[in-house]
Amino acid sequence: MLRISEYPAKLHRQISQLTRRLLAQTLSPRCALCQLPMTGSEAAYFHHSVCSACITQLPLCAGNCRRCALPLAVGDADIEPVCGECQQQQSPISEMIAMGWHQSHVRHLIHLFKYHGQLAAGRALSAAWLHHCHIDDMPQALLPVPSHRSKIRQRGFNPAAILASDLGAHLAIPVDLNCCVRLYAGDSQTGKDKTERWRQVQAMYRVVGCPYDHVAIVDDVVTTQATVTTIATQLKQHGVSRVDVWCIGRTP
Ligand SMILES: [Zn+2]
Ligand SMILES: [Zn+2]
Repeated sequence: MLRISEYPAKLHRQISQLTRRLLAQTLSPRCALCQLPMTGSEAAYFHHSVCSACITQLPLCAGNCRRCALPLAVGDADIEPVCGECQQQQSPISEMIAMGWHQSHVRHLIHLFKYHGQLAAGRALSAAWLHHCHIDDMPQALLPVPSHRSKIRQRGFNPAAILASDLGAHLAIPVDLNCCVRLYAGDSQTGKDKTERWRQVQAMYRVVGCPYDHVAIVDDVVTTQATVTTIATQLKQHGVSRVDVWCIGRTP
């Protein structure tokens, strides 16, 4: 039984322990996906956004076609890892490195980053890209897919440029924002057929010059490849000999 004289010290200890616990819970960063508190090291590594358990559950792309990052069919990879479609048509893209499928956790993080302005989610994605992706041949520069200035005004940033700047800073590769410009904002592509979508995208981007021999175009999501193929084609016309694509999410 506690004597009256012991209450203040005991109570004080209990209250300070409780306060410390409450403060730690409130202040410690929580995972953007599972909402659980993160340890100090994982918070620092994944930029205060995603815990190490969730990072291991990202739907990763692995062992896919070297040019388009889509899954290979049986027999495709007999000679080199290129799918049947990419073997038949000449692509201006030498290698597409996609971290994961644009679904579940990857899709959710990209959504938080692009549409809710959570820059920490973008940082977690670029950290995850660096953690999971392997680069054989370093490009001389990273070229983020440009956003139209009206979109940058509205959103406050270009997601591809933020990702490129994170990757470039980590890998010591310069980011070039001047090689390619976006001429039109572009309207919704819903309801347009494939030819119309491609025609619209081809008119949207212009490469104005490129002083490098080997570059990587950086984008958050690659879906139809229309954007990256358009930019890669123009880069080749400007004398670039190798164009790779680095993206976070690939639409299956
Ligand atoms: Zn988590
Ligand atoms: Zn392919």
